[in-house]
Amino acid sequence: MNSIETYKAVFDSNPDAIVIVDEVGAIVLVNHQATMIFGHTRDEMLGQKIEMLIPGQLRAKHVHQRQDYSRKPVPRTMGSGLDIYALRKDGTEFPVEISLSPILLKNKTLIASAIRDVSERKEREQMILANELKYQHTLDHMLEGVRILDNDLRYLYVNEACIAQSRTTRENLIGRTLMEVFPGFENSTLYPVFMTCLDTGESRFTETEFVFPDGHKGWFELSIQRVPEGLFILSIDITDRKQAEEKMKEQKAFTEAILNNIPADIAVFNKDHQYVFLNPKALKSEEMRTWLIGKDDFDYCALKGIDEGPARKRRELFNKAVKEGRDVEWVDEYPSDDGKTYILRRFHPFKEDGELKYVIGYGIDITRTKEAEARLKELYAEVQAANWELEEFAYMVSHDLQEPLRMVTGFMNLLKMETEGLLNESTSQYIHFASDGAVRMKNMIEDLLQYSRVGTTKEDLEDVDLDEVVSSVTHLLNHRIREFSAKVEVNELCTLKGIKPLLTQLFMNLLSNALKYHGEKPPEISIGCIEEKDHWLFYVKDNGIGIDEKFFDKIFVIFHRLHSRDSYTGTGVGLAISKKIVEKHGGRIWVESAPGKGSTFYFTISKNTQ
Ligand code: ADP
Repeated sequence: MNSIETYKAVFDSNPDAIVIVDEVGAIVLVNHQATMIFGHTRDEMLGQKIEMLIPGQLRAKHVHQRQDYSRKPVPRTMGSGLDIYALRKDGTEFPVEISLSPILLKNKTLIASAIRDVSERKEREQMILANELKYQHTLDHMLEGVRILDNDLRYLYVNEACIAQSRTTRENLIGRTLMEVFPGFENSTLYPVFMTCLDTGESRFTETEFVFPDGHKGWFELSIQRVPEGLFILSIDITDRKQAEEKMKEQKAFTEAILNNIPADIAVFNKDHQYVFLNPKALKSEEMRTWLIGKDDFDYCALKGIDEGPARKRRELFNKAVKEGRDVEWVDEYPSDDGKTYILRRFHPFKEDGELKYVIGYGIDITRTKEAEARLKELYAEVQAANWELEEFAYMVSHDLQEPLRMVTGFMNLLKMETEGLLNESTSQYIHFASDGAVRMKNMIEDLLQYSRVGTTKEDLEDVDLDEVVSSVTHLLNHRIREFSAKVEVNELCTLKGIKPLLTQLFMNLLSNALKYHGEKPPEISIGCIEEKDHWLFYVKDNGIGIDEKFFDKIFVIFHRLHSRDSYTGTGVGLAISKKIVEKHGGRIWVESAPGKGSTFYFTISKNTQ
């Protein structure tokens, strides 16, 4: 091959299209690649103006540029920094890169253009750019805070979340170092972590509490990676989670403190009666407590080599609580140094959304209560015995006193008759006082006898029609009702189980008091009853003299009177008897009153009198 052919081969094999034009822009030479990228044959191009390869709208401008270049031809790239397009034969345009170089011949200057089709590269670049934009958009809008720092820990990039987490603005971050934004950062625990990552290139993952310049504290989860620019740091604000964890920890410690210090055995079981939790009161040894978790009482018995009887009993009670879905309670007795210890135990099925979750076992030492209860029982029996004896005594005394008293009054009367007209005035006065005293004593003894009988006599319960009872009482009191021009209103009463003679006496006492303790105006008395859940509530209301609040309790005490014998007759036993009658019927009695405002006596009678 001669040298001309060699040049031609080199020229044609050049990967760039080469188009050589003369001073007036006419194409004088093209290589093979030029025919390939423009789609023209050599013949079609040769002799034509170079503008044939340039898109129509740029042609006029190109002519000028070409002429400028011809005047001062130097090798250079064309349109540097601009996107240039060339025109194919089929009319399509494509991006090109062009380098120009003058070819200086003896008598003329040609210009060679090396044209490279950069469509593919442009496309690639475009794709990369689009991808970058896409990635940046993704970073910008990530929920995690993203920051890219240079080797001096200077912010190069921050996303929205990072700005929010940093509690500042983008302007305050970009271009500034961490130490400038957060003074004292170099003394924080994070600083050495960042520096090590920068030094070693090892990625780090850490959780840290960060204190902001304004004192605000936040918890962050950080993922730190070395990147060419410096550090790429992802952060998640976990303050809420940390606070919740902290709260839960506190709550747990609180609950544990209670469970560990409460003076009760507490054990929590799963559905299969296996231990889930035990407090130290239930089992002292921590080692044993840990061992027992997931095991049951039978495992414990086997380990300790003890009788399984109590464990079997507990299993039965456990199954009962689970089956019936309610608390099951029992008392365990243990021998102790000073007698016996009693533990009140309970299985409490604990459900969530209607499903059995756990069974909670409680155990409370009730030895003291048991002892107190026994003592109370003893005392009650003692008091009852004493009371009974006292009532017996009162009954016997009042009964036995009647006979000598009858003798006294009898002989006083004889004395009065025999001495009639023989004694002076003062001596017969003495006899009068003595017999009056004896009469009063007789009344008191009779009342006392009646009082003591309420407790001792055993009458049968019967259906008592109280309308009938009250009507017989008003009938008996008729003369006094008329004497005082009293009005007695009886609202409908009821029939109840009771002791008729006692209930008759009760109404008799209250009604006669209402008549006796009347004020200036004629007595107005109203009697009625109200049915309540397990008892009847009765009232006897009057418009009489009333009672001072400070005597409300005293008037029910035997022989207690508020008035002298001269103003109102009586022994002060009526209300004491009434109280006894009411209590015998499982009720209580009380008064509501104020001086001059009348009184209302209330009493209840149980519906379950036995
Ligand atoms: P007595 O009527 O024989 O004195 P009671 O036991 O029936 O005894 O009453 C005790 C006291 O309660 C009476 O002395 C009287 O002062 C007071 N009392 C009772 N009923 C009434 C009433 N309806 N109004 C005002 N005071 C009353």
